[in-house]
Amino acid sequence: MQLRFLERWISLLRLVAIPFVLAAVAVASYPPGAWETWAWITTIVFVIGSLGFFVLARSDLGRRHPVQQSIAAQVFDTVIVVGYVLVFAFEFGLPVQQILYIDLAAASVRFGVTGGLIIAAVSAPILAVFARIRSVHFDEPYSWKLVAFQTFFEVLMALIVGWLVHRLSREGMEAEARAAEAERLHEAERRTVEELRRLSHLRADFVSLVSHEVRTPLAAVIGSARTLEHRWRELSPEQRDRFLALIGDETERLAALVREVTDTSRIDSGTFSYTFGDVDLAALVDDAVAAAEVARESVTIAAKVPAGLPHVEGDPVRLRQVLTNLIDNAVKYSPEGAPVEVRAEAVNGHVTVDVVDRGSGIDPRDQLLIFERFGRVHGTSKPGTGLGLYIARAIAEAHGGTLRVSSRIGAGSTFTLDLPARRTS
Ligand code: ADP
Repeated sequence: MQLRFLERWISLLRLVAIPFVLAAVAVASYPPGAWETWAWITTIVFVIGSLGFFVLARSDLGRRHPVQQSIAAQVFDTVIVVGYVLVFAFEFGLPVQQILYIDLAAASVRFGVTGGLIIAAVSAPILAVFARIRSVHFDEPYSWKLVAFQTFFEVLMALIVGWLVHRLSREGMEAEARAAEAERLHEAERRTVEELRRLSHLRADFVSLVSHEVRTPLAAVIGSARTLEHRWRELSPEQRDRFLALIGDETERLAALVREVTDTSRIDSGTFSYTFGDVDLAALVDDAVAAAEVARESVTIAAKVPAGLPHVEGDPVRLRQVLTNLIDNAVKYSPEGAPVEVRAEAVNGHVTVDVVDRGSGIDPRDQLLIFERFGRVHGTSKPGTGLGLYIARAIAEAHGGTLRVSSRIGAGSTFTLDLPARRTS
């Protein structure tokens, strides 16, 4: 049971009891002596304390310290109950000592069997004093039976109520755990459905993408070949060269597509092979940049590679594939002629290569998607399969490294390949 809510409830019950107590104290006929004074003192303390605990139970302080609040409330209740039991000991017709049961029930609900037994232990001497007051002041025989019986029943009550509270709280906890588990399962199911839906979309996208990516170069190759076949003699040597170059470019594009699809399927089946060795990443970056510049004359690609860049342990062919993919993308997704920079540096036992462009940038929502199979930014007009970065990241991870992006729409993107540097012995 949550102590916070329990205290709110008990504090309300105390307020409800105030009018009843006031009436009982007012109408009692007191014997000579200080009985009436003590009855009123106890009542004033009860009323003030009840109001105080009512406010405390609804305050921030009570919310933050529920256990301390319950202990204080229990001590207060016990003091008040004991006060009334002793003050009203003169009322012979009234079984006033039995209000100790209420205090005991509250303790059992608050603190289980232990709480109940403590109150039973505390009330035993109180009952003894109670019986003594009756016998001394009112000339009655001392009733040890009253002390023994009530203490015995109080112990029983502490055991029964405490056990019930314990069971209830265990069942409550089990129900909460079951509800949390159901919630977790529901969430997992929802995510699986979402993932399946996403995969099915991706597959549909992939089918249309590949058919487009295959059909376009094939149409160009067939068209050029037929033109050369039928109009060979009419064409000038430059025109023939242009058609032959087109056939070369488009078949290369087809070959690249087939390579990407095969690489992806090998990565997925775990058969993508690597031949590891010592790799001079600086030379690899220089080569990749030079090759990219040769392929596209209109683009300036600046390489910033510090001297003495540590080597890495890796597969040079695969790492070159990653760099080529990043540089190709930087060029492809930038406006015509926009500069691209490739920076390498050594940081804390790692070597990083940043490929920086001033292109369109990538929306943060798409920055996870582009590393997935067939993941492409929605609405991209450039040709592509969405497999390049998936393969590149798989290669980086197979080297114990990472591939990440930081990008802002309109400001460009930086793709960072991070690899552990090779230990020099
Ligand atoms: P592809 O280029 O064949 O589509 P990639 O896996 O290489 O496949 O890239 C996935 C997607 O990420 C691209 O379709 C493009 O939308 C986006 N992208 C990749 N690199 C860049 C970049 N430098 N600038 C902007 N968008 C990029």
